[in-house]
Amino acid sequence: MNWIDKDKNTIWHPFTPLEGVDDPLLITKADGVYLHTDDGRKIIDAISSWWVNLHGHGHPYIADRVCQQAKTLEHVVFAGFTHQPAITLAENLLSILPENQSKIFYSDNGSTAVEVALKMAFQFWFNQNKDKKRVIAIDGAYHGDTFGTMSVGERGDFTKPFVPFLFNVDYIDFPQSGMEELVIQQFKDLIKTNDVAAFIFEPLIQGASGMRIYEAKLLDELIAIARKHDVICIADEVMTGFGRTGELFASDYLNNKPDILCLSKGITGGTMALGVTSCTEEIIKVYRSSNLKKAFLHGHSFTANPLACTASNASYDLLMKPECQASIKRISRLNQDFVQKNVSRPALREIRSLGTIMALEFETTNDSSYFSEMRNVLYPFFLEKNILLRPLGNLIYIIPPYIITDEQLLKVYEAIEEFLDTL
Ligand SMILES: *Cc1c(COP(=O)(O)O)cnc(C)c1O
Repeated sequence: MNWIDKDKNTIWHPFTPLEGVDDPLLITKADGVYLHTDDGRKIIDAISSWWVNLHGHGHPYIADRVCQQAKTLEHVVFAGFTHQPAITLAENLLSILPENQSKIFYSDNGSTAVEVALKMAFQFWFNQNKDKKRVIAIDGAYHGDTFGTMSVGERGDFTKPFVPFLFNVDYIDFPQSGMEELVIQQFKDLIKTNDVAAFIFEPLIQGASGMRIYEAKLLDELIAIARKHDVICIADEVMTGFGRTGELFASDYLNNKPDILCLSKGITGGTMALGVTSCTEEIIKVYRSSNLKKAFLHGHSFTANPLACTASNASYDLLMKPECQASIKRISRLNQDFVQKNVSRPALREIRSLGTIMALEFETTNDSSYFSEMRNVLYPFFLEKNILLRPLGNLIYIIPPYIITDEQLLKVYEAIEEFLDTL
C-alpha cells in the first residue's frame, strides 16, 4: 500500500472534508522556502506553513541547537523545576516585548496561550472579589479552536455546532476605515457598565478572517478607554508576533500597551509547538500570595518544553540579526510596491499589505465567505505552479519566511498577476 492510501486509512486531517477533496501531497523534506514532495516537486511555502515559519525550513542553526538540547535535557516537569532554555527565553522575550511586560507564562500552542490569557484575566478579578466577568472582542476575531478561544472569536459556520457551549461575549464592529467613530461609541456603550473583565483583540490585523487591517490610532483609543474602566487589554499576537507586521510586535505601533500578550506560531521559528502568555506586574500582583487558592492553577504536560524553548532561543538569535531585520524591511517594501502596482485592477475588491503580510480580495458575484467557490479555482492554480497559497474563500494572502529571496518572491507575485490576467 502506498503512503497516501495508508494516510487515508488512518488519519483525519484538520479543516478538511473526508470526501471529495484531492489527496494530500506527501512531503519528504523541506529546506529554506521549499517543500519537497515524494515525486520530486519543489513547492514555495508562501504561507510559512500556516504562518509559523520565520527563517525557512530545516534551518541548520535551529536544528543543531535542538539536537544538542535533545541529548542534554529533552523535558522535565515545570512545576517545582526549571531549566536554562526557559529562563533564557523569558529573558529574551522580555527584552523585546513592550516594556510594561514583566512575566512569562508558558503553554504549548496559540489557543492555549489565549486560554491562559483569558483565565489570567478572569481570576485577576476573582482574586479581588470583583464582579467583572464580561468580555469585549472585535467582530471577525479568531483566537483559536478551543472552547474559550472559540467563545471570544467570531461566531460563524466554523463554530455553529458548538455555539450552545460557548460563553457570551460582546462584539464591537470591525473598525474599518470610516467606521472609527461608530466603533468607539459602541465600545463606550458596552464598557460603561463597569463589569467588563477583558478586551481581547488581534492588534492591527485580523488573520483568519481575511488579513483585515485597521488603524493603530483607533486601537490606541480603545485601549485608553478600557484603561479608564479598569478593563484588562489582551493582545493576541499569535500571528503578528516576531516581525510579521514590519515591527517585532504589532503592539510596537501602539502608544498604549496591552496588559497581556499571547504569542505562539513564529516563536520557535516554526520548528515546534510552544505558547507564551506575558503579563504586567499589575496582573501578577494579585496572584502574589502563599494561599494555593489564589495561585494560577493552570498547566500542561509539555509546559515550557526545553526543546521548544531552545528552538525559540535559536529563532530569536536569527530574528535579531541585522540581515533578518533588513529582510523584513525588504519584503515589506516589495509587498507595498506590488500593492501600488495592482491597486486599480478591477478584478480586485481590495489589495492591502502590512509589513510582510499581503492580501488580495477578489470581486465575486456570489459568496465571498471562506466557503466561496473561488477557493476551488485559486488553490490548484497556484499549486500547479508549485506555490503554496491557502485561500480564505475569495481571498489569497502571502506571509512568507523572511529568508525568501527577491527572485522567489517575484515568482509568487508573477503567478498572482497571471491569475489576475485570467479574470
Ligand atoms: C493561529 C492563531 C491562534 C491559534 O493558534 P494555534 O496554535 O493554532 O492554536 C490564535 N490566535 C491567532 C491570532 C492566530 O492566528
